[in-house]
Amino acid sequence: MSMLSESMQDYLKTIYEIGEGADRVTTNALADMLGVTAASVTGMLKKLAEMKLVEYEPYQGVVLTLAGQKIALEVIRHHRLTELYLTEAMGFSWDRVHEEAERLEHAISEEFADKMSALLGDPKTDPHGSPIPSKDGHVASSSQTALSDVPIGETVQVERISDENPALLRSVAALGLVPRAMVTITARNPENNRLSVAVGQANTDRQQQSVEHALAEHIFVRATSTSGHHPSGHHPPSKP
Ligand SMILES: [Zn+2]
Repeated sequence: MSMLSESMQDYLKTIYEIGEGADRVTTNALADMLGVTAASVTGMLKKLAEMKLVEYEPYQGVVLTLAGQKIALEVIRHHRLTELYLTEAMGFSWDRVHEEAERLEHAISEEFADKMSALLGDPKTDPHGSPIPSKDGHVASSSQTALSDVPIGETVQVERISDENPALLRSVAALGLVPRAMVTITARNPENNRLSVAVGQANTDRQQQSVEHALAEHIFVRATSTSGHHPSGHHPPSKP
């Protein structure tokens, strides 16, 4: 990984993030995410293809090779461990750590990352709820279901929040829509583009909040298993 420029590492990470590790990614999607022209994306993809880190066909988009994926996951592991270390060990608030991690992810060694992980008790998720890849390149799947798409009345649990925008993270925290919070949409209000939601850490004691639709698009949730089911695979005793 340290053989590659920061820019190359960012390309591999961004291809992984847009394509969820598997899908082909278009040149335009990459250009948008990286804030560069399509022409400079094409130039870089040719270099990365020569290094056997991506498979690139003009007009077909790009996909990571196994070697490219390994480096992408290493950069993501550094990023997410750094974010957690900054919040847990150094007292940074969760809206301040992404920018720092964007720089440090390229600078720290594998040994540094492993020591942070050990100090933090080998955590599975970063402060925004995204999964931290393991040292051997395994990563848990992450939810692609935005809160804004959840049907009215269904209770879901917040899994992760997009972390690029500090103001968004502050709004999310003020509403209590943090990872593991339970949330139910109680009404959609198209006239002002807001959602009414009930939010809390448990299913009881939940507070009514009003959330902008655009904010809810950045909050990713998972279905809960609590709605009318019996816990952890136990079946109710059959009646005689
Ligand atoms: Zn981040």
